[in-house]
Amino acid sequence: MRLAARPVGDVKPEDWQHCSETVEDPGPGQFAGRTLAISLDPAMRGWLDDRPSYLPPVGIGDVMRAGTIIEVTASNHPGFQPGDHVTGVFGVQEHVVSDGKGALKVDTSLAPASTYLGALGMPGMTAYFGLLDVGALKDGETVVVSGAAGAVGTIAGQIAKARGCRVVGIAGGPEKCAMLTGELGFDAAIDYRAEDVRKALREHAPDGIDVYFDNVGGDILDAALTRLAMHARVVICGAISQYNNTTPPAGPSNYLSLLVRRARMEGFVVFDYAQRYAQAAQEISELIGAGRIKVKEHVVKGSVDDFPETLQMLFRGENVGKLVLELV
Ligand code: NDP
Repeated sequence: MRLAARPVGDVKPEDWQHCSETVEDPGPGQFAGRTLAISLDPAMRGWLDDRPSYLPPVGIGDVMRAGTIIEVTASNHPGFQPGDHVTGVFGVQEHVVSDGKGALKVDTSLAPASTYLGALGMPGMTAYFGLLDVGALKDGETVVVSGAAGAVGTIAGQIAKARGCRVVGIAGGPEKCAMLTGELGFDAAIDYRAEDVRKALREHAPDGIDVYFDNVGGDILDAALTRLAMHARVVICGAISQYNNTTPPAGPSNYLSLLVRRARMEGFVVFDYAQRYAQAAQEISELIGAGRIKVKEHVVKGSVDDFPETLQMLFRGENVGKLVLELV
């Protein structure tokens, strides 16, 4: 799946080109693989824009960048054998040839392939380092997570619960909110589509918010800023409500509450923590094993042709937990 044009606003079907091309045999030091599962990430929208960011944009005509899990089918690389399952940024394509750079073997007898793209992959790492390093979370604090029913949000909220925090999730729709407070054990959930978020935060975080983990930006960030506790930390993880804007993102008009509450707001990029992924994956897998993190995944079965439509599900809130396209 190649990028055909730079999208303006929502990504449209004509922004993509599905090409059928022959994959070369692996050369010396390379392996070939068959894609099993493709990760769908809100960040993909940002990678399509030609503006300075933490990664260069996907070029027009390039295979779309994506984290995937592949099965090695042939190898001239000493580190990878046929049959190995490997994760890496191999892109939206059915077959890949790789020199192994950035590739990591995963054990799919311990967890399904999709989990290495979710709780044990980039979203899990994002939740862990965003909450614990950037948010400097302390046991027993009050934590509010937006985008709470998604890949990052479900893990962030459950890590905070495991540390004895009061956790309030913000998500779209009654089903997602019921899942957060029922299955995942959040203390409260706010349906931002139906409720006045500012008023609901007053009710559910009566002593103020110590850590606000923001996945969505916009009006919800602005509402959370009005409820900060003293020395609160606002973690800027993402701003999905702004990614399809054709004008610059709206800034938070309530930012002076950072001054009043002696609080701080800090953004981060998960890739900066790569050296410590193993530590985070170990801790998250222990919490999963102990039943303290429930893994939520939304697996769409299909082909590379289904990538454009599956990506749009993120922006319509149609996924619960980690959205993955499994190639069948
Ligand atoms: P999710 O699984 O949370 O999927 C996206 C969700 O966003 C949707 O399900 C929807 O849920 C919500 N959403 C969509 N549009 C809006 C809107 N206009 N307002 C409010 N909510 C909306 O995605 P991820 O967990 O993968 O990513 C969450 C955030 O984390 C993103 O902002 C992403 O960019 C960021 N991120 C940042 C990283 C970093 O290094 N800083 C790394 C990885 C992710 P609902 O139904 O509740 O609206």
